[in-house]
Amino acid sequence: MNLREFWYPFRGACSLTFDDGTENQLLKAVPRLDERGLAATFYLNPGGRDWYKRLQVWEHVAVAGHEIGNHTCSHTCSNNIQNRSGGLEDITFEDMETDILTTQDRLRRLVPHQKNWSFAYPCYCTFVGKGERRKSYVPLVARHFLAARAGGEYGFANHPYYADLACLWSIAVERMSGYEMIGLVEELTFRGMWVILTFHEIDGERLTVGSYDYAMLLDYLQRKSEEIWVAPVTQIAGKIIDQQN
Ligand SMILES: [Zn+2]
Repeated sequence: MNLREFWYPFRGACSLTFDDGTENQLLKAVPRLDERGLAATFYLNPGGRDWYKRLQVWEHVAVAGHEIGNHTCSHTCSNNIQNRSGGLEDITFEDMETDILTTQDRLRRLVPHQKNWSFAYPCYCTFVGKGERRKSYVPLVARHFLAARAGGEYGFANHPYYADLACLWSIAVERMSGYEMIGLVEELTFRGMWVILTFHEIDGERLTVGSYDYAMLLDYLQRKSEEIWVAPVTQIAGKIIDQQN
């Protein structure tokens, strides 16, 4: 089957993903998606004693049709990003599994109606340990999730036949203009790929995208809704799994 047949009636797919559950995602990202009838995936970190109180508002986002995903409680990154020890280089496979399962238990309590779940690797890092003891925790994630999102090379996306669903590529869009995001989605979906964009803040202070540029991308996706399938990560992963079977 060629890619045209695979995606029919679309030519490719795009998932919009948002990490860390920031306040400006609630204020700026979600309303603009809802206005246009687009659904996205939001990766949350239900850490701390106050996790339920802090994240309760996301339950409404999920009920409105968006997807919630697991981004761990601790958001442990590489020591090299955290500028301190105690990061991924210093923890074990078991530490990571405990974190992921605690997170999953909490998110299921937050959004009991959601059936399928995906994971986003904090800081796009897929390993634990260092040097000779360094190993991938992708197999652990593959055991517990339908799909998972990592980083990737700029300008590339996921081929529906060859991508590893447990380690999907995404493009980090911080500081991009609307034109750049549109160009990437246009070109990669034309080639029959599944493009996953990773957002953090909208009009924020960290890894941000401007709301004008964000709205420009959403307007484009709305105009192209008959050609580009825009859906949360597990919906598109589900289609790929069905076809592979
Ligand atoms: Zn994150």
